Amino acid sequence: MDYDVVIVGGGPAGLLAAREIARAGRRVCVVEEHPEIGYPVKCSGLYSVSGLAVLDLKLDESIISSTIKGGRFYSPGGKELLAYSDVERARVVEKKLFDKFLAKEAARAGAEFMLKTKVAAVKINGVVLVKAEGMHRGELSSELIIGADGIRSNVARWAGLKISKKIVAAAQVEVDSVDLEKDIAEVYLGRNYAQNFYAWILPKENVYEVGVGVREPKAGVMDYLHRFMEQHPVASKKIKSKSILEFNAGGFSVEVARDTVAERTLIVGDAAGQTKASTGGGVITGGIAARIAGRACVKALEEENFSKEFLKENYEDEWKKEIGFELEVHAALRNMLDSLSDAQLDELFDLAVQEKISELMIKYQDTDRPSHFVKELLKNERMLNAVQRFLDLKL
Ligand SMILES: Cc1cc2nc3c(=O)[nH]c(=O)nc-3n(C[C@H](O)[C@H](O)[C@H](O)COP(=O)(O)OP(=O)(O)OC[C@H]3O[C@@H](n4cnc5c(N)ncnc54)[C@H](O)[C@@H]3O)c2cc1C
Repeated sequence: MDYDVVIVGGGPAGLLAAREIARAGRRVCVVEEHPEIGYPVKCSGLYSVSGLAVLDLKLDESIISSTIKGGRFYSPGGKELLAYSDVERARVVEKKLFDKFLAKEAARAGAEFMLKTKVAAVKINGVVLVKAEGMHRGELSSELIIGADGIRSNVARWAGLKISKKIVAAAQVEVDSVDLEKDIAEVYLGRNYAQNFYAWILPKENVYEVGVGVREPKAGVMDYLHRFMEQHPVASKKIKSKSILEFNAGGFSVEVARDTVAERTLIVGDAAGQTKASTGGGVITGGIAARIAGRACVKALEEENFSKEFLKENYEDEWKKEIGFELEVHAALRNMLDSLSDAQLDELFDLAVQEKISELMIKYQDTDRPSHFVKELLKNERMLNAVQRFLDLKL
């Protein structure tokens, strides 16, 4: 047997699972089709401080580009809601260095890497047989396989598991100059600029990230991004320099996978739709599940039990216990936001300002676990009635 576990995909989820398995002294190999961990970038790198702590990540200062203390939200009609307090809530990291940091932690624990190597096929027949192409050619054998291969997961497909078709396409650029505080993230809603999702501006050390996410769009995501930068009544005036210093794009799922295990197989991260549907963030939640997957593999190896039932009990049931409900709350929020018209969103914003909802946002600020916020929000009768009325209107 070449390895105990082969992990397909060297993104955050694969790397965190690898760290967990290697730390238990097991032989694990991460196979990544790109020649470099962390590149190409397809992430803004905004992670909650609490989430980074949960993942046991003590990042070097050199990786952190800025610290976020609040958010400014714009409704489609330009109504503004600021939720800010002098508490460090999230970090914006240099994503490429972040992934390298994760890879180094896994490597120091003993994980091996095969870069510029694509997994072309997987066969399960009393053992896992992995066909590798590229820099490392040939067949690898292992007891278990983890599919950390992103939204188009082939590992899931080969194992007969469903992958989500509810995908947000996102693109972002770095620009040099935006009229924005260094500790505030901005979010812009509205179908014209970000159909079924939102646009954002994030401050980094010396630059700003400007991005747009869209689902079921009426044009290409880049058309939306250009329109946002050039024509949005608020954002276009704030973005002083429109010269693009870096561009990246990708997608994420806004639907959690129901089944994430098969015989000798586990699916983690974006491959399993472990993404927060209301924000698009997947690194913390996918990372939490990846660590559980790593521990489940170690247990399976100890007990020499690689059955679907064992993996379900020790991985799928566990990650659902840990983050399943919160991901469902995110999905419900996303469904609600998508079903409201721009005019209804404007009305909701007005109400939120009148009802000082920003105070709730500050108090219950954990975006990885939004259920406390939603519970408190729905105790506000005017907000509850408005949501009820809007959703009834749709019926
Ligand atoms: C524009 C954008 C901005 C985002 N911003 C944020 C943010 O601020 N915060 C946040 O938390 N999340 C953000 N996300 C989401 C976040 O990037 C993902 O949730 C996260 O990257 C998922 O990690 P992963 O390891 O599951 O998958 P990925 O990062 O997609 O990694 C999968 C890896 O598998 C490799 N791979 C695939 N198939 C094979 C194969 N057959 N053989 C070998 N290798 C293979 C790929 O090359 C890739 O490296 C953003 C996403 C986008 C698109």
